[in-house]
Formats: sequence, C-alpha cells, structure tokens
Amino acid sequence: MLEFCTLGTGGTLPIPERALSSLYVRVNGQSLLIDCGEGTQVGIRRLGWGFRCLDGLLLTHYHGDHCTGLAGLLLSLEKAGRDQPFHIWGPKGLKRVVEGLCVIVPPLSYTVLLHELPPEGGDAELIGLKIHAFPVDHGGIPCFGYRLVLERQAVFDPGKAKALGVPLEDWKRLQQGETVHVGLKKIRPEQVLGERRRGITLVFSTDTRPCETLEKNAKGADLLILEGMYGDEEKMPQALKNHHMIFPEAAGIARKAEAGALLLTHFSTSLENPEQYLPEVRKIFEKTWAAKDGETVTMRYPEHEEKAWISLS
Ligand SMILES: [Zn+2]
Ligand SMILES: [Zn+2]
Repeated sequence: MLEFCTLGTGGTLPIPERALSSLYVRVNGQSLLIDCGEGTQVGIRRLGWGFRCLDGLLLTHYHGDHCTGLAGLLLSLEKAGRDQPFHIWGPKGLKRVVEGLCVIVPPLSYTVLLHELPPEGGDAELIGLKIHAFPVDHGGIPCFGYRLVLERQAVFDPGKAKALGVPLEDWKRLQQGETVHVGLKKIRPEQVLGERRRGITLVFSTDTRPCETLEKNAKGADLLILEGMYGDEEKMPQALKNHHMIFPEAAGIARKAEAGALLLTHFSTSLENPEQYLPEVRKIFEKTWAAKDGETVTMRYPEHEEKAWISLS
C-alpha cells in the first residue's frame, strides 16, 4: 500500500487555500517528499503524518515555488529529533541551491546527503520505492519528473518448497526473504517464488510541456500526478510562453499512457476553480481529478483488476 497527500497544489504563487508545490508519500510508516514549496511545514503539521519518518526529498527543479520551504523543513526535522541522514535528490545545481537556501540554518543534529542527478536523470531507492528521475521540458532549465514504483514480491509457491524438501518450519523464513539450509543445500527465496505480481506505479511531473520522456515514463502508471497550470485552450499562449501545460494536454498524456487515473495539481492563481474544467477534460480522459491541499489518497496493490485500487479521502 502507498499513501500520499497533496500538501500544496499551487503553482508560482500561494493563495490562502493553496500552498506551493509539495507531495508527501508514505510507505510502511516511512516517507519522502517531492518538492518543498513555501507552506510545506504547515501542510505536514495539518496532515499529522509527522516529520520524524521523513527520510528524503526529491526536488523537481529550483524555481522558488518548489524549494523555498527547505530551510524550515530541515529545522523542523531537527526539532522532531532526527539523527539519521536525510537525503535530497535534484538536478544540476543542487549543492549551490541547498547551501544558498540554508544559509540561516545552524549546524544540524543529522547529516544532509545531497545526490545531484545528471541531465539524463537517474535511479534511486528510498523507503522501499524504486525511484526513476527523468528530464522534462521546462524551457531549458533542468527539471525532472519522478516515477515511483512499489514492487510487490511474487507469491510463495508451496509446491516448489515441497519439491526442494524445505521443512514446513522454514517456509516463513523463506517468505520473509531469508536463505535457508536443507542438509548441505542452500535454498534462496527466489527458488520458491511463483508468478511475479504487479506493484504500484505513481508518476509525478509538473512544470513541463508535453514531451517524449514524460510520455515514455507515464506509460502504464496506476496514477499520474501532472501539472494543470491552466484550464483550457484560451490560456495556450501563456502555457507555451511559461513552459507549462493546459488540462487537455495533461489528459492527452494520461490517455496515451493508458494510465489508471490522472490527478491534476500545480494550478495558476488565475485558475479560481479547477473543477469547472473537469467535465470537458474528462471527454479526453475520464478518470481525471483536480487535487486540493491536504487531500490524501491510498493506492493498494491490484488483485484481480489491471490497475492499483485508488481511494481518496
Ligand atoms: Zn512551478
Ligand atoms: Zn517551474
């Protein structure tokens, strides 16, 4: 199971009901953030999922609406008693940006580890998620989208365990990933696994025009969280000029990717009511929603259905 909260759904500037970009992702009690706009700390306090379990931050790019909350976040982590390293991934320039933003932060009780990714992106693992960063098109500045995959272990096959002579009392250890000994033979967990099972894939990408790398990485995702900076065609000149998307473009990506659902976020201040555009955009991709600050979503492993089961609260 993977849960997330859209802490901030505003783009460029905050408004009273929309903080700036930030997503809180939680898996098995451990968590990470994607982006840390102004207001992120307040959003986390309101949510109540805590600071202590936050292990890392993935930054999409260094426009202020995505990173100005960082200094306060690092201070809050210290106040929460953090003593383990905190990891930050981001595009080129990460060290300079973090040092600049944190000039007012005194020495911390924990280590901040910076992982600057090359222009073509890269891979990481955190809180049990396989993370892939991919470059997107935000007008020439380095900007990444992130594909998060929560893999699911293949089902245990008792027939294989029996055939290998594994005694019943060792089955549980194998199921938990341990190697066991049967006489002089070593039996590894992968020898007693059946068919692979589908995991959960979540893709987050804001601040981009539609582009090939986004289309490729969106493919087959259970849920796409994409920017919906502007509502409709009328705002296309601004979208082109500022390197953002309109709702129908995001919906077109979701349709082409055969995604399970689409959640729009990163709304312009000019977009007073994102939901008013949903009836039109659902003609392109039916399962489209508009995110709200503080909304939580649960994604469960698919059982018989093709895509992960998603519920909003
Ligand atoms: Zn932005
Ligand atoms: Zn931007």
